[in-house]
Amino acid sequence: SSLEYQFPEQSELHNYKLLDKIGEGAFSRVFKAVDITGVDQTPVAIKVITKENILSNEISEDDNRIKSSSRKQVMNECAIHRMVSKDNPYCTKFIGFQESASYYYLVSELVTGGEIFDKIVQLTYFSEDLARHVVTQVAIAVKHMHLMGIVHRDIKPENLLFEPIPFQGHQGDAQKEDEFKLGVGGGGIGLVKLMDFGLAKRIYDNTAKTPCGTIEYTSPEIFCSKPYSMEVDMWGIGCVLFTLLCGYPPFYEKSHTKLVKKICKGDYEFLAPWWDDISSGAKNAITHLLEVDPSKRYDINDFLNDPWLNSYDCLKPSQS
Ligand code: ADP
Ligand code: MG
Repeated sequence: SSLEYQFPEQSELHNYKLLDKIGEGAFSRVFKAVDITGVDQTPVAIKVITKENILSNEISEDDNRIKSSSRKQVMNECAIHRMVSKDNPYCTKFIGFQESASYYYLVSELVTGGEIFDKIVQLTYFSEDLARHVVTQVAIAVKHMHLMGIVHRDIKPENLLFEPIPFQGHQGDAQKEDEFKLGVGGGGIGLVKLMDFGLAKRIYDNTAKTPCGTIEYTSPEIFCSKPYSMEVDMWGIGCVLFTLLCGYPPFYEKSHTKLVKKICKGDYEFLAPWWDDISSGAKNAITHLLEVDPSKRYDINDFLNDPWLNSYDCLKPSQS
């Protein structure tokens, strides 16, 4: 109808109809959308990125906080997203790319449960079983990426989505339902999916051919950069696991300089009373992930073999 609100982003996008806005990032707005050609009725998610050229003139003052991305960055995001989500249920599936004069459109599988971030806010913190259920799936996604020589570089609760599973017990069983919400049986969290490949990067891989011809002229840091780059994702997983278990992040300071200092020293604590009832196994895993020296930090295989991660596997998804 004529009363329908027209998103400015819609005007140049022809085969999808944008529905509700479901998310916002530093560089984008994300909408639920449907294919209006009727080929596929399944709703999708479309990340709309404003092109640089329209920012300066057409966008109002108010919209100026939405930054643009360069074409190269967007192409990199698409290529990596497509590669990592192929045959991998633990990353949101990449569907396609479109562009218009003003926008880039990145179409992906819609994940309906929302962000793990919001689930932490809702539950305050996760039980150890529920935290394990989540990070195991993130770790499988990261292993898949690291094996391809790709580092994500932005692992955080905002970039983890989940498919909800409904409460299966008897209706009216308030105690069972409360337990469920606290994590028994998955807490309503089914498949967890890593998303947002905007900062992801292909790293030089020893097993691959040299990307730029002769190896003789390649500097040592090119060869050394691989393990160190992969380690940033392990730090990210450590921050996520810490946050899931207690409800607040390991490093927090209002001042940017103070925060950077704390991170560089690995200055975090298992504060009472929040950490009193959390197992030493979980703390041990975090200690190995939040290790300042990247050469001593857990790599993805170390983490997947961690005794705490493997100590209770009734919620663990099967590794495919
Ligand atoms: P940015 O790179 O700007 O951070 P993201 O790709 O992280 O953008 O998307 C921003 C937010 O939009 C996400 O945190 C999430 O809440 C939502 N979102 C993005 N993609 C999807 C999707 N496929 N399904 C559901 N929600 C999504
Ligand atoms: Mg994001």
